[in-house]
Amino acid sequence: MKAPAKSSGSSSPAVSTPAPSAAAADPGRKPGEREGFDFFSLLAEHEHEQVSAYYDPSTGYRGIIAIHSTVLGPALGGTRFWNYQSDRDALIDALRLARGMTYKAAVAGLNLGGGKGVIIGDNRTTRREALFRAHGRHVESLKGRYITAEDVGTSTADMEYIKAETNHVTGLIGRSGDPSPVTAFGVYRGIKACVRYRSGSDSLSGKAVALQGCGSVGYHLAKLLHAEGASITCTDIDPQRVKRVVEDSAAKAVAPDAIYDVRASIFAPCALGAVINDDTVQRLQVEIVAGAANNQLAEDRHGDLLERRGITYAPDYVINGGGLINVNAELHGWAPERARSKAGEIYDTLLRVFEIAREEGCPSYRAADRLAEQRIAAIAKVRRNFV
Ligand code: NAD
Repeated sequence: MKAPAKSSGSSSPAVSTPAPSAAAADPGRKPGEREGFDFFSLLAEHEHEQVSAYYDPSTGYRGIIAIHSTVLGPALGGTRFWNYQSDRDALIDALRLARGMTYKAAVAGLNLGGGKGVIIGDNRTTRREALFRAHGRHVESLKGRYITAEDVGTSTADMEYIKAETNHVTGLIGRSGDPSPVTAFGVYRGIKACVRYRSGSDSLSGKAVALQGCGSVGYHLAKLLHAEGASITCTDIDPQRVKRVVEDSAAKAVAPDAIYDVRASIFAPCALGAVINDDTVQRLQVEIVAGAANNQLAEDRHGDLLERRGITYAPDYVINGGGLINVNAELHGWAPERARSKAGEIYDTLLRVFEIAREEGCPSYRAADRLAEQRIAAIAKVRRNFV
């Protein structure tokens, strides 16, 4: 099993360029003689700061922690527990995800860098305590340069095991809680920014929204949209979840695949990744794509295709930053209102992204990367001296 090709964070190309072949690196070596990989080239490719690998023989724990950047603050990113096909796949996933976290935190205006942990193995194991405590010791060994949290294959209970070994962990039981309301609020503000960018007014009254996914974020988003007078057409593979949105937000339901053909102002993907692909990009009959799902573009070129079709795309890692803002709130003991207000700033951030896109003549997903890079470069300059 292999993790999805893209995950939370930047929609930029993954760190997946094959490293120079062993034969090319060493002329004396015959092609295929030893398929190694050029470890430091992988790190250098996107300027990763550090990679740490840790093995614990007593539990069989094999973990990698990638720290992409600590320019803005400690590198934060969840720990993914996955049965990678190879150690190389695990390393590349960690590097790619860590980089995405740097960009996500940077555009959210948070003082956090980007990192990611991966544990190699079967995430259905019931022998979790010792394994996650080994991971906690690995995290602790980095002395706060990396802060971990939940991700695919891990739970809040696992975070409690980690907490026994280190304080550099968030998303604990009874702390910041479900991030979905904050994420939904950020997406709602992001949708308003997109509408303003297109029409000059950010009112959603009378706007039609096609909502894919009536889960945690989709449900809260629907309520906010409905309260402002938008009409919603929704879908989900779970009929119970559809029912809740139909009843609480006066939505109309369609079958899962029909959502791409709904004529609306906004398509809000709040279910899965890669929903903007060769098939759907031609079917959409909307002006705006703006939703919570991670990695909405199957490939970057689908962002170019949206642009060519005149559809405004809110880069996923910008508009769904509320979840990370919620984690940051837990780290710094922010009151819930402060987290919500910070998520509300996604409105201005998106307008800035669209401005950069216009100035530089590039698609919005690239403009988002530029905005993140500008902030990191500016702060790096300020912090160059010894104080
Ligand atoms: P969720 O699991 O609560 O909801 C997802 C919903 O999508 C489920 O109801 C599921 O049945 C539905 N779904 C799955 N496949 C579908 C399909 N083919 N068609 C229609 N519906 C389908 O997840 P969530 O927390 O609401 O998150 C939604 C998306 O937003 C995810 O991609 C998640 O990674 C992303 N995201 C969430 C947060 C957060 O705070 N929860 C933060 C950032 C990003």
